[in-house]
Amino acid sequence: MKTYLVTGGAGFIGSNYIHLLFELYGDDVRVINVDVLTYAGNIENLSSIAHKDQYRFVQCDICDRETLRRELESESIDYVVHFAAESHVDRSILGAEAFVKTNVLGTQVLLDLAREWNVEKYLQVSTDEVYGELDDTGLFEESMSLLPNSPYSASKAGGDLLVRSYYETHKMPVLLTRCSNNYGPYQFPEKLIPLMVLNALSDKPLPVYGTGNNVRDWIYVKDHCLGVEQVLQKGRYGEAYNLGGQSEMKNLDVVKAILAILDKPESLITYVEDRKGHDYRYAIDFSKAESELGWRPTVTFEQGLESTVRWYLDNRAWWEALQARSVV
Ligand code: NAD
Repeated sequence: MKTYLVTGGAGFIGSNYIHLLFELYGDDVRVINVDVLTYAGNIENLSSIAHKDQYRFVQCDICDRETLRRELESESIDYVVHFAAESHVDRSILGAEAFVKTNVLGTQVLLDLAREWNVEKYLQVSTDEVYGELDDTGLFEESMSLLPNSPYSASKAGGDLLVRSYYETHKMPVLLTRCSNNYGPYQFPEKLIPLMVLNALSDKPLPVYGTGNNVRDWIYVKDHCLGVEQVLQKGRYGEAYNLGGQSEMKNLDVVKAILAILDKPESLITYVEDRKGHDYRYAIDFSKAESELGWRPTVTFEQGLESTVRWYLDNRAWWEALQARSVV
């Protein structure tokens, strides 16, 4: 039985990943979730597995080396899968400090501890945003230079480079994933899709940046989590693997699709001043993950969006609790 240390497991993707681990391995896995519970962390995401003997929650900042060392000294950790991050680009534009602390310093602390613990593998969950932006053609490839444009993506690139350096310097068994925009259950409603769903449900304006023509590749969160697991199990040390959803969409078309599912009028769309430094287009070449690991996304955008909207309709209590806490 393997013991996973998952950081940021109370967040959107981390909680989906922990659910996936129990789905894949049943009782034959142990999961330790380290999460400080920022505004974006929600321990309710894991309420259905919290009782399990194979699950342990440690509320701790990943920058707090001494507490982590003490809390985890009796554990025998096989894998570190590092999701914890400050993750919202708009917040990084308002202030970058928390991003540098968690995404750069926090990564360094974890790498150091993972070395001390002599873990079998360390996987860094990163983003396609580290590559910068594309014009109307081309795809991000792993061999491209890192050219991040926002403080968020710059801090993630800093983390990625530290991971690379621990491989080159210390020969640590590290792996990196770089994924496109995720959507699905448990996504905090500051991000595009849940924000638009909740606003549409209450007939509030749907704010679209600029012309709405910026393009993102969308991946259903479970496909991303399956990709992370494949990279962890079969990836080559020191390598980065792009993971994408093969679903390029203009932001405006995403918003229109949500309105259509909810049978709400497009007159709710309101164009607002563009985000500063707004990257134009992201698109992913995931052929390396496909040819080396046999991974590819399985959920189409239409299927994933339908089931995501359905999830928010069926889980009102989840987001109403966030609204009651005034965090959204
Ligand atoms: P999220 O904001 O929903 O969750 C982040 C989690 O990390 C939260 O539970 C938060 O409490 C925790 N956290 C933050 N700072 C911490 C700290 N200092 N110590 C301990 N815990 C801390 O983020 P997400 O969307 O689930 O993203 C997870 C990872 O995936 C991030 O590394 C992000 O960069 C990456 N990623 C996200 C996307 C996306 O579309 N959401 C795409 C590609 C990559």
